[in-house]
Amino acid sequence: MPEPTTASIQAAVEARRDEIVQMLLHLVAIPSVTGNEGDAQRFVAETLRSDGLEVHSFLSSEEEIAPYVTHVGEQPSFDDRPSVVGTLKGRGESKSLMIGGHVDTVPVEDRARWEYPPEGQLVGDRIYGLGATDMKGGVVAAMMVPRILHDLGVHLAGDLFINSVTGEEDGGLGTMSTILQGYHPDGVVITEPTYQRVGVASGGSLVFRITVTGKAAHGGNRNQGVNAIEKFIPIFQDLLAWEAERQATVHHPLYDHYENKFPINVGSIRAGEWASTVPDKLTAEGRLGFLPGESMESMMEQTHQRVAAVAEKDDWLSEHPPVVEFFSGQFVAEEIPVDHPLTQAVLAAHKDISGEETEAWALTAGTDARLWIHFTESPAVLYGAGLLHLAHQSNEYNEVEPLLESIAVLTRLAIDWCGIADS
Ligand SMILES: [Zn+2]
Repeated sequence: MPEPTTASIQAAVEARRDEIVQMLLHLVAIPSVTGNEGDAQRFVAETLRSDGLEVHSFLSSEEEIAPYVTHVGEQPSFDDRPSVVGTLKGRGESKSLMIGGHVDTVPVEDRARWEYPPEGQLVGDRIYGLGATDMKGGVVAAMMVPRILHDLGVHLAGDLFINSVTGEEDGGLGTMSTILQGYHPDGVVITEPTYQRVGVASGGSLVFRITVTGKAAHGGNRNQGVNAIEKFIPIFQDLLAWEAERQATVHHPLYDHYENKFPINVGSIRAGEWASTVPDKLTAEGRLGFLPGESMESMMEQTHQRVAAVAEKDDWLSEHPPVVEFFSGQFVAEEIPVDHPLTQAVLAAHKDISGEETEAWALTAGTDARLWIHFTESPAVLYGAGLLHLAHQSNEYNEVEPLLESIAVLTRLAIDWCGIADS
């Protein structure tokens, strides 16, 4: 059959406008804070099944995830947290494509700050609600693609997988499980809210803890003790100096416009018990960012070296070296090239539907795309409607027009990437 025209794809999406809005409102209304994704995932699975897809719903297990726990984080529970893959089997030999994203959300922080209910409400062109932009809008967009293809009478040659996962906000449990189930699509598009840019790079991050030992004494005789807070100050100053040095010397074309490419943030400090006691211990915890091209191992090594170099210049610290540890979820930094066929295909599909160029884009935060790129041969990018800066905020919303446009783009992409079957 001939390729559907741009206008016919747009018309097919437009015809389902109300249904798309209703489906997003429905999914937003199902609570799915990380750890409690069961009900939302059942809705996704049932919808895909009733649309004629072959549905595979699977739980993650502690044993299977154990080797990857530094990447996906500790889990509150493994119960009733299914991941879902709906397969629209291709009728030929061609490349396969996976589209989808995470159904979990962060909790509502402060309900009083919400002007509209976090359970969802349509206001003009905006769909308000928790997860409307991050990223139930993207999940709905992916779910709609098989329907639009059906409306157009298109049978794809390659397989199309619609993926809905759990645990992304915590590190990526569902995506890791999907990978471990053996899926290896020829392309993955995660429909995170990227303002419809093509997200090709995810920044990495490490969470560190530095413990400094001092010597206790009565505050009235403080010179007989060693204050752990004072001993931490040069370490802290050196972390900031390191951040500034890296900012000036480490370059990446997609990141150089960021005011701070790799923030080093000390987020908590604990020291001392009593105003008139010299504290003998300080624990500082923080997060350190890095870029694609820099390995997690090298960043850990450099952190150790930086702290050790400060300690060497100090009589006390050289005798009592500070301890540097890494804990909690560690995010590798990954990217695929701007000229990769998948990046180019998404850029082209966007141009075809919207009539305007979009751009390849880099994120300072980590996304599930990193897991595909790091652990598999499958290239992965991000592309979706929605405003990333509204994620994890009160009054989060998505907009109807960009959402509809993203569905048309994803449909165009599926046709271009998977090809059309002869019969
Ligand atoms: Zn997200």
